[in-house]
Amino acid sequence: MARILGAVATSHSPTIGFALDARKQDDPVWAPIFASYEPVREWLGRTHPDVLFVIYNDHVTSFFFDHYSHFTLGIGERYEPADEGGGARALPTLRGHAALAHHIGRSLVADEFDLSFFQDRPLDHGCFSPLSLMCPHETAWPTPVIPLQVGVLQFPAPSALRCYKLGKALRRGIESYPEDLSVVIVATGGLSHQVHGERAGFNNREWDMEFLDRIENDPAALTQLTHADYARLGGMESSEVVMWLIMRAALSDRVRKVHQTYYLPSMTALATAIYEDLGPEPDERALAEHRARMARPLAGAEQLPGTYPFTLETSVRAYRLNRFLHQLVAPGHRRRFLSEPETLFAEYGLTADECDMVRRRDWRAMIHYGVIFFVLEKLGAVVGVSNLHIYAAMRGELLDEFWKTRNAPGALYSVAGPAGRTWEK
Ligand code: FE
Repeated sequence: MARILGAVATSHSPTIGFALDARKQDDPVWAPIFASYEPVREWLGRTHPDVLFVIYNDHVTSFFFDHYSHFTLGIGERYEPADEGGGARALPTLRGHAALAHHIGRSLVADEFDLSFFQDRPLDHGCFSPLSLMCPHETAWPTPVIPLQVGVLQFPAPSALRCYKLGKALRRGIESYPEDLSVVIVATGGLSHQVHGERAGFNNREWDMEFLDRIENDPAALTQLTHADYARLGGMESSEVVMWLIMRAALSDRVRKVHQTYYLPSMTALATAIYEDLGPEPDERALAEHRARMARPLAGAEQLPGTYPFTLETSVRAYRLNRFLHQLVAPGHRRRFLSEPETLFAEYGLTADECDMVRRRDWRAMIHYGVIFFVLEKLGAVVGVSNLHIYAAMRGELLDEFWKTRNAPGALYSVAGPAGRTWEK
């Protein structure tokens, strides 16, 4: 069974990563930052968790307002540091823990959280800034991560209470994972700061102290505050500290704080804290019931012949090929696909099997592989094959045979625009 050992809470200001990259260890202005992370590094080295569950928010780097979600769970196998304007920091790629992430995703949806899921998006300073001081990473990171991106920048944003409820469900999601794994929750953000407008530079040490006390001893009280309350008390951007409530609720009521620091060098109040979980052993019967509830939505689907639900596992496993085919919505990509397919295959790093299925237009093999139908119809549109041809081929029938099973024999259509309907000729 997976178990939560405890949690690390930390600010995620870019100044933390900057101090490291600029080698400010001996500069008296920056030295307190290094000192505050030393016990965190030591604690993580000693407790040696199998997974870090990192709650952070992206700063309009990898998640833009063309599609902005409240809770977006990372389900991928690796995460790169993001380029935020001047090139990415020289940090190794983070490993993900895809299997636990997929389990947590199913668990949270079973608990009625409408999650989004992401992979193949780099993580910005919200994650990497504190992580680079928390963990050694000369050649590789010691621990795989599961990132949870919280959309706190565009209102309506998730409330403090919603975050708290998510944390309760997250605990169930982790503890119901059948494999023996130890997990540390990492909450990032805050404390008091405001970085925009005439109020830029606002801080409130008194409120920060009160927040640090309440998050430990009376987190439920913090769920009653609105975003406006957090903005008034700590500055507008400090309302991201609602993310700490996810962490606190994922711990049991009984925690022991074994470390805390607070330092305000410039704009953002930098805090670190470690909470060890002293909670009771989980209720195995309740967890078994929860696992059964998680399995219910797709139970029985595996017995339907010729039917392949597109799951998180499929999404990650077949991502490379799905992505390649999805790119056919871009005119430049489809022009190159038609004129120089082999070069394009190589650029996208498709495997020999993947190239072979695409070359042969083996629709059924691609479905079995994990390609979703809705990129197959794009491929059909590009190469001049109608949807009906694809349906017939997936069934192993000739078009004439398949037509006989339809009420409109002879009907052909596809998602191609007028220029792509070459099968009409
Ligand atoms: Fe932030």
